Amino acid sequence: MAEDLFRFADGYGPEKIVHLHHPGLGLKAIVVVDNTAAGPAIGGTRMAADVSVEECFRLARAMTFKNAAAGLSHGGAKSVIVADPAMPAADKEQVIRAFAVAIRELADYIPGPDMGTDETAMAWIRDEIGRAVGLPREIGGIPLDEIGATGFGLSIAAEVAQAFCGVSLNGAQVAIQGFGAVGKHAARFLTRQGAVLVAASDSRGATVNPDGLDVAALVAHKEAGEPIAAFAGGRALAGDAIVGVACDIWIPAARPDVLRADNVDRLDCRMVLQGANIPATVEAEERLHARGILVVPDFIANAGGVICAAVEHAGGTQAAAFAVIEEKLRANTAAVLRRARDEDLKPREAAVLLAGERVRTAMSLRRWGRAR
Ligand code: NAD
Repeated sequence: MAEDLFRFADGYGPEKIVHLHHPGLGLKAIVVVDNTAAGPAIGGTRMAADVSVEECFRLARAMTFKNAAAGLSHGGAKSVIVADPAMPAADKEQVIRAFAVAIRELADYIPGPDMGTDETAMAWIRDEIGRAVGLPREIGGIPLDEIGATGFGLSIAAEVAQAFCGVSLNGAQVAIQGFGAVGKHAARFLTRQGAVLVAASDSRGATVNPDGLDVAALVAHKEAGEPIAAFAGGRALAGDAIVGVACDIWIPAARPDVLRADNVDRLDCRMVLQGANIPATVEAEERLHARGILVVPDFIANAGGVICAAVEHAGGTQAAAFAVIEEKLRANTAAVLRRARDEDLKPREAAVLLAGERVRTAMSLRRWGRAR
């Protein structure tokens, strides 16, 4: 049977799937520009040895929905460079600069940092072709991971969501899986609002203390390169035992699919606030919904980072970025959770409807935009 060349095509996109190959420079990459109805597409550049065209398309579509839900003047895209991100620095710079030159004419795609790339890589791309987001502060960037843009957005989403699941943020017990750029800043901002961090984990284990962990001390401990489980202020737990820690708000901030049919029933909380992208399988989200546990979906709750990138691209300041994140996260979380409640939908269904409507409206405003 002939290969279906358009197997990803639907009413939204993708507009372009571009295969980039430069044998001399060791460059192999794919760019998917999914939808640009709202404006030039922003999406991360991932560097990994095992990435597929399908994964790139799914990530690009997720960016279309995330950017639309956030009301940004940007469409969605994603790129993947097939290479080991741990390669020697000089080789990495050459590959990334070659990638930048290869996407010069793809003017409707603005790259940002993702797994395996960082703000330095974005600076190289900007140096070559004049466009990238997530840049170092020294060249006008707003370092979104350093300032905790996504963690801040999660704390605003939690503030809105508390009323929808009978939790009071003041005194709420929070458990966070993954204590990197997203997790540690979520802990910082939520405890500022009166929440108590009772458990946190990294890839090597967890620490738990029902009376509350000292967030500043835990951040310092982690930044010193120590495993979280060795933190003196808590009791160590192994593996994914953090899934079963009793709390009010459970935050995945690490890997995809960490909540699955085989472990989701161990969750003992009232809200799952999704910091990571696709942290729960479809079945796991269904079981949570059936148990009355409120799920605040990833592309609504974790949009702080891309909103920050969009503000940077428009020439805004760090203070402006925080203000825009707060405004958009507050409005969008409320819109999604209200719709889910009023129309008896799962929050993800309400979020997809909201984002889809915004993409279709943006498409209808373009000359050839209407989906057929
Ligand atoms: P990061 O690399 O800074 O931190 C990830 C953390 O997860 C680390 O502490 C790591 O030790 C831990 N971890 C890895 N595997 C784990 C496991 N099995 N159990 C427990 N902890 C584990 O990454 P990040 O930037 O914080 O991103 C975390 C997630 O959030 C990713 O899914 C990312 O795609 C998503 N995300 C990030 C942003 C952002 O602004 N950085 C925005 C939206 C979504």
